[in-house]
Amino acid sequence: MKLTVIGCSPAWPNPGGAHAGYLLEGDGGRLLLDCGPGVLARLREQEAWPAMDAIAITHFHLDHWGDLVPWVWGSYYRAGHDDIRPALWVHEGGRALLELLGSNLGFPDMFERAFELFEYGPETPFAAAGFMVTAIRLPHYTLETYGFRVTNGTATIAYSGDTGPSERLTELARDADVFVCEATLDRGVDDGEPRGHLSAEEALDAYSRSGARSLLLTHRPAELPVPDGIELAHDGLVRVVESSS
Ligand SMILES: [Zn+2]
Repeated sequence: MKLTVIGCSPAWPNPGGAHAGYLLEGDGGRLLLDCGPGVLARLREQEAWPAMDAIAITHFHLDHWGDLVPWVWGSYYRAGHDDIRPALWVHEGGRALLELLGSNLGFPDMFERAFELFEYGPETPFAAAGFMVTAIRLPHYTLETYGFRVTNGTATIAYSGDTGPSERLTELARDADVFVCEATLDRGVDDGEPRGHLSAEEALDAYSRSGARSLLLTHRPAELPVPDGIELAHDGLVRVVESSS
């Protein structure tokens, strides 16, 4: 499968950057993990309108879902629009939340009209765009948040979304071919309580305990240093992921 980092900024944009958006392409289709502000514009640099089979959202902080709103408006109103509705996977209760957000941002069924809505349950694999995706609940302050483990049957990518330190994060990334892991913080001790993000050292610790085969740090403020020898995500990064086992 092919991984393209569409955007990888933290909760505020890095200079010229888009927020969270990770495109996975395989034989069965195209799956976008998260869709933060700036992601739709980036996708549109490559194609007039993104031909996406499915989108999966880790949690409802704006930097991970915000561009679903302009995606809705473009679905209805852009010249030459079609009636294709990508599958949109959100956690349980997400459908009701989108209805509430729609009531305030446009109209209650605005998301339902643009996307085919599905809710995923914790640790219950679901099929999306030809991939199997497993959502693992992770700690992110008090907000319901998941990381995704995605496989095409041979290669596996683990994506942390936003998370504090957790054994569950290690399990999410267990033996994955690529572990895309957030590292928002300079120091873990500066985080709130309950924890919500990782320092680079904490991301490295989860990586080393997971047995994952490679690490891609992401969601990292541009001002912060990156440990020697560690790869940092950038918008536009492409990685062909093959099973190394
Ligand atoms: Zn975030």
